Amino acid sequence: MDCPFCDTRATPRALHSHLEAVHPEQVLLAESARGLVYKVACPLCGAQHEQQVKGRAGTAAFAAEHAREIRLVGFDMLVNHLVAEHATDDGPTDTGPVVPEEER
Ligand SMILES: [Zn+2]
Ligand SMILES: [Zn+2]
Repeated sequence: MDCPFCDTRATPRALHSHLEAVHPEQVLLAESARGLVYKVACPLCGAQHEQQVKGRAGTAAFAAEHAREIRLVGFDMLVNHLVAEHATDDGPTDTGPVVPEEER
């Protein structure tokens, strides 16, 4: 499948790593009335995903400390959406051994 933000092609699993490494700014952390939330928007169809950060997490300090983990969860959501809504059949799949894109 294609990275929605650049020309990279990868399996869903490799795409997840790619997003975290190259496009971390695509998961936004924001304060809301309910507490801390993360937001990720699909660039292909504009669908917005917003999820409250759970647990003791609702503080900016926690968010700064755990920004990477929060982003990983946010990208999980985005990759799942891309697979469900925008996947095409011509790309590589996760059935073979997973080789990170950079090592091919
Ligand atoms: Zn990319
Ligand atoms: Zn979409």
